[in-house]
Order: sequence, then structure tokens, then C-alpha cells
Amino acid sequence: MSLIVQKFGGTSVGTVERIEAVAEKIATFRDQGHDIVVVVSAMSGETNRLIGLASEIQEHPTAREMDVLVSTGEQVTTALLSMALNKRGYAAKSYNGRQVRILTDATHTKARIKKIDDENIHADLKAGSVVVVAGFQGVDEKGNITTLGRGGSDTTAVALAAALKADECQIYTDVDGVYTTDPRVVDSARRLDKITFEEMLEMASLGSKVLQIRAVEFAGKYKVPLRVLSSFKEGPGTLITLEEGSQMESPVVAGIAFQRDEAKLSILGVPDSPGVASKVLGAISSANIEIDVIVQNVAADKTNDLTFTVHKNDLAKAAAILNDVAKELGAREVITDDKICKVSIVGVGMRSHAGIASKMFACLAELSINIQLITTSEIKISVVIDEKYMELAVRGLHSAFELDGEPKVA
Ligand code: ASP
Ligand code: MG
Repeated sequence: MSLIVQKFGGTSVGTVERIEAVAEKIATFRDQGHDIVVVVSAMSGETNRLIGLASEIQEHPTAREMDVLVSTGEQVTTALLSMALNKRGYAAKSYNGRQVRILTDATHTKARIKKIDDENIHADLKAGSVVVVAGFQGVDEKGNITTLGRGGSDTTAVALAAALKADECQIYTDVDGVYTTDPRVVDSARRLDKITFEEMLEMASLGSKVLQIRAVEFAGKYKVPLRVLSSFKEGPGTLITLEEGSQMESPVVAGIAFQRDEAKLSILGVPDSPGVASKVLGAISSANIEIDVIVQNVAADKTNDLTFTVHKNDLAKAAAILNDVAKELGAREVITDDKICKVSIVGVGMRSHAGIASKMFACLAELSINIQLITTSEIKISVVIDEKYMELAVRGLHSAFELDGEPKVA
């Protein structure tokens, strides 16, 4: 018998029927003797609906009132789910953030959790109750309602699991786990039984959005075993763990991630002198534009070429800044390209295996895909290529690194 924190996202509790189905699922775990703490999101679409109501009244409502408003969505689901459990003969008790006392800082709409009181929850569990907690919300020192940022219920679940020292934190969602790549691009993509926190962070930040990144960081920091599973389909899901597993069983590359929303900028023929990169990139980041890949190279004629990528939405702004800097520095030219994508292979096994990069490049060469930029980290290699080859590259790499499973039959 163990203590499990189970989080159900908006689609999983999107209708009354689905809430009843969630209650059935929780009931099975109770029947097996587990103690269950449930964290729920608002019914799907509800948070957006509430935000829409606010905007009909005021263009820029205060963050405090926004939090009072949007936190109501989760409270509705806690009560409905508790009723659905009670109806089935299972004791259940709903809690909002303040009632648990999920203490946060006072940063409305993106508050951070400082401390969670666990006495009430432990007492209820001991008395045989399922505890149903509203995700996404907390309370500050002064008693103001706060929320944790969009998608914040994942973080509530992980934080509760850490505070209660739960045996596992299960995130139920509309996919049945973390995949080797996006199944919409590669139909032989496989569900991973296990992935490390580090790999998951790379996969998540590279565009495989299954879990809120902050929740994964939190789980890694507090060593909370985290499992992603489907609310609708039976199965073991994907366990996100600290362990890397033995070399024998864990593949070197865990997955292929990709991102289509970046654009590339180059400043060419910059005189080669100290401070150039700082000047160029400093100007970009002062405008609050995030830079991703950066490559710099000194040519034989002692001038610099500097290329970097930003989000497509920031391209126009970044290009304007770069043109100004180019004039100032006497650079030859600025070029931009928004028809690019980034494809990455991710795996902790890369640390202890040589030849992964050359295998990746050989695969792309065989497909006649030109590599524009390359960057690496300890557990990741990314290339920037023409966006029209993205699917080809992802499929090719997926099979080159032996990630293909059985193609799914529709
Ligand atoms: N309901 C909130 C949102 O839609 C929190 C969550 O679902 O995790 O962002
Ligand atoms: Mg959500």
C-alpha cells in the first residue's frame, strides 16, 4: 500500500461523464488499498472562459482580481469529483489552496510555492478519505489567493507529492506517455517506459509539450518519481526517474525533438575584435529577446560571422536591432531566414558513447539534408536545417537510432 498523488488535467475532467470516469479510476486504486491525493485542473476551456469574461470588463484587470477569478475553475472540479466519489461510497474531501495551505509568494498569476502544510491531508488520509485538491492555486502570507501560472496544476501535484513524501506522482493526461518523438510526425514513434528528468527537460523544452517544464524541474529537484499516463487508456505510461538504468537496456538516444518556431539571423564580416559578440548579442537580449543557438566563426580575412536563432515572433525586432549594430560595427551584411527548423537527438547515454554525432550527420547526409548550424550539450545534439526537410530528418533519425516501434494502425 502506498501514497499516490494523481493529477487529472482539464480534458480528463472536461465533462460530468469524464469526472465520473475519473472517480471510477480513483476507486480502483482505493480498492487496492492505496492512499490517494488527487489534484485537479479546471474543466477544459474553463480557465480561458474566465479570462475572456475579465477582458469584457477591463482591459488590464489587477493581477490580484485575475487570481481570484481564475482560481474558481479548479474549485468547481474538486467539489464535483468529491461528489462523484462519495456517490460511489468512497469518502472524499475537497480542498482549495488556502484550505490545504499551499503557501506561495505574493507574485500574482505566477506565484511560487514556498511551503505546504500537510497535517490536514494526513489526517484525512488516515481517516480513510480521498483528498481532492484544487491545482494551480495557493495563498500568500496575507491570505490573498494566488495562482501558479498556466498549466500550474502539474506543479501543484509535484509539490504536494514532495511535501507528502508520496511514493509516486501520476500525471493523467490525454496522451499515454512520453514518446520517442511526436507520433503525428513519425507513426512508428514509441512510448518510452522510462526517461530521466534531464532527458525529459530537454524533450520538453525542445517542443514535446507533455508536462509543464517547471513541474519536471521541481520533481527532479525533490526526487519525486513522476509518471505520465492516459486518463482514457489503460497502460503503464512513462516513468520519469533519476536513474539512468544500465547501459545494456537504455538506448543511447532516448528521443528526437524538433522545433519549427525559430528563425535565424546572421551578421557577416564583422571586424574581429574583443567585445563584438557581447555587443551584438547584448543588444538583442536587452530587447528581451531570447537567443537559442549561437555560432561564431572567424574567417581567414580576420572578420567574424555570427549566426544565432530567435523565436519567429521576435525576428522582425531582432533584425532591426541587428541592422543598427551592423552599421555601428562596420559589418558587411545582415541576413535572416525564417524557413528553418531545429532537430535534436536527446539521450543521457551520449555521455558515455562516442560516434553519436557522426552517426547523426551521416544519416542527414544520406538524406541529402544540408546542415546549417550545429550545437551540442552533454546529452543533446541539435542541428538547424531547412524547415521543408524537418519531417524527413526526424523520421530518418528516428530509424537510424533504432527508435522505431510497430507502426500504429489507425
Ligand atoms: N487551469 C489552469 C490552466 O488552464 C491550470 C492547469 O490546467 O494546470 O492553465
Ligand atoms: Mg492544463
